[in-house]
Amino acid sequence: MSGLKLGAHMSISGGVSNALDAAAAVGSNAVQVFTKNNRQWGGSPVDPADTARWHEQMPALGVEYAVSHATYLINLASPKDPLWGRSIGGQKDELKRAQAYGIRHVVLHPGAHTGSGEEAGVARVSAALNRLHEELPECADTMTLLELTAGQGTTLGYSFGQLAAIIAGVEDKSRVGVCVDTCHALGAGYDFRTPEGYAAMMAEIEETVGISTVKCWHFNDSKFDVGSRKDRHTHIGEGFVGLEGFRHILNDLRWDGIGMLLETPKDKDGDGNDARNLATLAGLVADASRVPPGLRA
Ligand SMILES: [Zn+2]
Ligand SMILES: [Zn+2]
Repeated sequence: MSGLKLGAHMSISGGVSNALDAAAAVGSNAVQVFTKNNRQWGGSPVDPADTARWHEQMPALGVEYAVSHATYLINLASPKDPLWGRSIGGQKDELKRAQAYGIRHVVLHPGAHTGSGEEAGVARVSAALNRLHEELPECADTMTLLELTAGQGTTLGYSFGQLAAIIAGVEDKSRVGVCVDTCHALGAGYDFRTPEGYAAMMAEIEETVGISTVKCWHFNDSKFDVGSRKDRHTHIGEGFVGLEGFRHILNDLRWDGIGMLLETPKDKDGDGNDARNLATLAGLVADASRVPPGLRA
């Protein structure tokens, strides 16, 4: 698993496996997908023809890393029992769907406490994860990745320390990891645009969740400056993260083999912007042999 695993979130229109074709079309070797409509609780059952095509096409198309993103409706921090219970069921469904595709990582927003307070919210997320782990032993190989957030509203997970607090309450830690979003990190106050700032963020990651717990990155530039607590993605190099922030991460060999996925705005046809953003990222890598073959200049 050496070298960079670079790609983008791709559309699943017409079948989840179509995202692999989209990933290959822009020369990438990694992909993020939803495994169902991301704004609904339910979804049509997993199509065995589509999972079969996925398993066949992923190696055939040279896609080496895949991650799924859970529906935005899930709130494991909710103080309200009906929504909390429904959210546990929702994440169970996400893990089962991912497992059917052989996807080992499911990115989840940690949730919002909606007024109960951060401590209560953190405990609620840990308890929810424990319950779903207990009720879903058959998905022990599929991890939930808690995404670092910008900290908007009552959203939890805006610091590595808070993600570590959630994980500390989880009994089976082999089933939970972290996803770092560059736009969210800047919004949460991590200024990794300078070498010193990047080193400080890395030291904080190591002291809290641990570097090996970080299983993927979301690469997005930000429309707002450091500490904004706002979450608005823009194209690589066109926002407040800027090229230097990405350069530090891309050239840090500790991230070799870890998925790096764009969630930047699509153009009308769906892929022109991805190709441009991926080329920008590839151009920041000092050692060209680490760049996926399809993205080499
Ligand atoms: Zn993200
Ligand atoms: Zn975001």
